[in-house]
Amino acid sequence: MYKAPSIESGAGAAAKLKDLQGDVLAVTMPIPWKVFQAQCQWEPRYVHMVADMDQDTLESLEASAPPFDVVVGLGGGSCCDTAKYLAWKRGCPMVLAPSIVSVDAPLTNMIAVRVDKSVTYVGDIFPEELIVDYDLIRKAPKELNRAGAADIASIHTALYDWALARDERGEAYDATAAQQARACLEELDRNASDVYEVSPKGIDTIVDLYRREVEFCAHLGSSRPEEGAEHLVAYNMEHLTRRHFVHGDLVALGLFTMSRLQDNQSAWIAGLMDRIGLRYRVPEVTAQEVAECLITLTEFTRWSKTFYSVVDSTPITADFVDETVAALFS
Ligand SMILES: [Zn+2]
Repeated sequence: MYKAPSIESGAGAAAKLKDLQGDVLAVTMPIPWKVFQAQCQWEPRYVHMVADMDQDTLESLEASAPPFDVVVGLGGGSCCDTAKYLAWKRGCPMVLAPSIVSVDAPLTNMIAVRVDKSVTYVGDIFPEELIVDYDLIRKAPKELNRAGAADIASIHTALYDWALARDERGEAYDATAAQQARACLEELDRNASDVYEVSPKGIDTIVDLYRREVEFCAHLGSSRPEEGAEHLVAYNMEHLTRRHFVHGDLVALGLFTMSRLQDNQSAWIAGLMDRIGLRYRVPEVTAQEVAECLITLTEFTRWSKTFYSVVDSTPITADFVDETVAALFS
């Protein structure tokens, strides 16, 4: 069941954590914890440093953690997800204070865990209390905070694929959810310069758009309105290279390439990504790797049995790959 979170945002808002009653377990990482401690001295009863998101790690943490009254997740996606895991398993209250807005983990009910190096999702716990501390978040690298907007910009190509699946495969389509998603994309467009600056309004925009996206996807029971072929590009790149990337960078690459395959306002979406500062020319990805990712994309989507998308309806030709890679690296 979807539950709307209470969100408190402001400069230094995380200082409010000091007021938590009972034994608190803070789940964090060395860098965000140090940044937070520099602005607010608070010693919770227990502090746990997150190492990784392997399922074994989470299970042994849950088995060995002492009893506590409240769990606080302070940090990026892994810290928020580890706190969610503990709150879900122990059935206790949770407060999340993201130190970066690069992923939607502080808003979603699912927990991304790694089993044999691939990501699967477990759990079902909607965060109810969120503290958005501008001071904390603005100390993270700007490009990583901007990357959070990719999972909202992805609505552009995802809605195209959803309508395509409706028209060509008779897939269930919800015009209201599609409209709600489009409104989020328009809101992102209107606030692009604030997102680029990572201003308080830019941070609030990303958090609020995540909140809206999580809500309409929860009611729909699917992430169709924000997950289309652009995500397939991201998944295939990880599959091919076996390297780790910033999720938003790969989704931005997917937006750049798949909006062209869709012949869907590709210049407009590239311009929007420029205004936001999304890195569709992913750092540390070569032109050769982008070409290989596109050439193998059709085969990858059939093998991984993903949702219907432009990749199924439009052949990815050698000419398309050449032109797209040239445009990307021009
Ligand atoms: Zn995503």
